[in-house]
Amino acid sequence: MDIMSLTALEMGRKIKNKEIGVVEAAKAALDRSEALESIVHGFVTLDGEGAIRSAQRIQKLIDEGTLTGPLAGVPMAVKDNICTKGLLTTCSSKILYNFVPPYSAQAVLNMEKAGAVIIGKTNMDEFAMGSTTETSAYGVTRNPWNMDHVPGGSSGGSCAVVASEEVSYSLGSDTGGSIRQPSSFCGVTGIKPTYGTVSRYGLIAYGSSLDQIGPVAKNVSDCTAILEAVASFDKKDSTSVLRENYDFSSALVDDVKGMKIGIPRDYFGQGLDEDVKAAVMAAASILEQKGAIVEEFDLSLTEYAIPAYYVIASAEASSNLARFDGVKYGYRAPEFEGLHEMYKKSRSQGFGAEVKRRIMLGSFVLSSGYYDAYYLKALRTKALIKEAFDKAFAKYDIILGPVAPSTAPRLGESLTDPIKMYLGDIYTIAVNLAGLPAISLPCGRDKKGLPIGLQLIGDCFKENNIIRAAYSFEQTREYERPEIAKEERR
Ligand code: GLN
Repeated sequence: MDIMSLTALEMGRKIKNKEIGVVEAAKAALDRSEALESIVHGFVTLDGEGAIRSAQRIQKLIDEGTLTGPLAGVPMAVKDNICTKGLLTTCSSKILYNFVPPYSAQAVLNMEKAGAVIIGKTNMDEFAMGSTTETSAYGVTRNPWNMDHVPGGSSGGSCAVVASEEVSYSLGSDTGGSIRQPSSFCGVTGIKPTYGTVSRYGLIAYGSSLDQIGPVAKNVSDCTAILEAVASFDKKDSTSVLRENYDFSSALVDDVKGMKIGIPRDYFGQGLDEDVKAAVMAAASILEQKGAIVEEFDLSLTEYAIPAYYVIASAEASSNLARFDGVKYGYRAPEFEGLHEMYKKSRSQGFGAEVKRRIMLGSFVLSSGYYDAYYLKALRTKALIKEAFDKAFAKYDIILGPVAPSTAPRLGESLTDPIKMYLGDIYTIAVNLAGLPAISLPCGRDKKGLPIGLQLIGDCFKENNIIRAAYSFEQTREYERPEIAKEERR
């Protein structure tokens, strides 16, 4: 049997039935990663020894009957902006090239409690700023579907290693689309939960009011099980919410009869690739055939989401990243005269171009004299965007649209034109501004054979609506794996 072709839940079941050992599963993931990493490069750090050690420990707990959850013993990967105690956490930045956290993020602790075996840390855009994983200080990740294309970003590593079947699932983070967009580019499924659902404690902050950790896996059921394991109220995160309900799996039913689905007309205008449009529309009609009530409507304000997001996210980033100064941890310039020069040189040498651009933009919009004109205005726009969604959700259970205007671009294509890259976030960022949950799942492929993602957006705390619709839609399709996931096994 080929262990790595299993979904996370299938693997968990086989581990429970003693058909697979936990160490055996960890070794399978490590072997496969070793075989593919020279091509895919989805990992920044692989932790073979640590993985085997925790696999042995978890096997014992399973044998004793202390660990019984559906994901117990399943190997997985964690995005490199999520702190893992004793395991290098770089944010794919030179400035954290040697940072070994003395603690783990609450999300990691929750997964460990569920029996996760962490194989390694995945590559990302530096500090999660970007849409292609090309701004990493440690080299690019390639799209398993086509090595000349990007995997998307910023959680490109987390999505690529699931698509290439180096692991069956991973954790990513989403500030403006970073779970959904690379999931869509890599042909896997990812969920951005309602803001406040997953603790941000130990997630290295980019835009704190927007950041959420979430699952990436091969299908909706896996993502749902991961979400159940990772979500928790945490008093260490002041924006954590104690939810009434942490049961998501009860939504895994193949039934959308009577579900009201709104399609924003503004999502299908200029700039949307024809193949993407056709695949997303086809998905909508499948849901309609299954009994959903599908209707077009005007969401409005879509055009303001990008400017508002880039002002707010950069403002928060400029403040969050002030802590990386060469004093406490991370990179320090080797030569300097005096404290100021030490700061200046450490930060100039430690941060990459995209991060510097955001820090400068963020500092500018927060500076006195411009604060009202840019930052406050962006906050007001954010409030209006939330209102527009509230209005939509008074009428519809979920909103359906594309994840991104195109499929994965070629490597190098986006780097020369940051504005163009920012525009690619048009369908994902409003969701973060409004704190909503959303899922991305495969719905087809374009003429080049690259995956296309379908995005379903729900109202706050209504993950179960998008999970139900996504699960229903998924029943009409086979899971598609890239050639690389088939080839390397022979
Ligand atoms: N592409 C967006 C940005 O660069 C979103 C990134 C993210 O969600 N972390 O800010």
